[in-house]
Amino acid sequence: MRIVLLGPPGAGKGTQAKTISETLAVIHVASGDLLRENQNKGTELGEMARGYMQKGLLVPDDVIIGMIQDRISNPDATNGYVLDGFPRTLEQASSLDAALSSQNQHIDKVLNIKVSDSELIVRLSGRWICRDCQRPYHETNSKPKKQGMCDECNGELYQREDDTSDAVSKRIQVYSNQTAPLIEYYKERGNLVEINGEQSIEDVRKDLLETIS
Ligand code: AMP
Repeated sequence: MRIVLLGPPGAGKGTQAKTISETLAVIHVASGDLLRENQNKGTELGEMARGYMQKGLLVPDDVIIGMIQDRISNPDATNGYVLDGFPRTLEQASSLDAALSSQNQHIDKVLNIKVSDSELIVRLSGRWICRDCQRPYHETNSKPKKQGMCDECNGELYQREDDTSDAVSKRIQVYSNQTAPLIEYYKERGNLVEINGEQSIEDVRKDLLETIS
């Protein structure tokens, strides 16, 4: 099963992608996580992406497309994957479709998690993330049991550089201009399902899993 999770930054794609990938036993491919891993390792790709990410801008299509195609041609992607954060532009979506159809494959479902802008700003500006397992917390709505420490793996919690208010506004604007047009793109292809992202994590999860099954 090949799934694309669409939705603005802060919609909960990472959290939900993790559950879907565990339920379906397919890999979770998060473009933002792959870029941050590259930055932590100091690779050329990571350094090149840093400036765009800090400003809340998209990394150029050719770089991202190459990175994702490498990842999904790995043997562990044979059973399928959940794409989280990719595609984010029409160019990325059409190159993904072209690469898949050349191998007689296609995206099975596109799940669009909808959340209002005002809710996104609240979520992102109070967000803390585990450095090790990427689990997100929120400083008022979803606090860890011990301050600064992940409940699940004891990893250190940190705030992303692009969760500052300037970068958050930019990311939401970039989403509306460059990523939201993908909703129409996938609607025309008939495999888009809309999910209400302003429910509890558990209820969003139920809706997503119901749609997939
Ligand atoms: P995310 O972790 O998905 O919120 O992504 C963090 C940042 O990584 C984005 O604001 C972009 O700068 C970059 N990025 C992640 N995925 C993509 C993509 N598909 N296309 C372009 N830039 C991306």
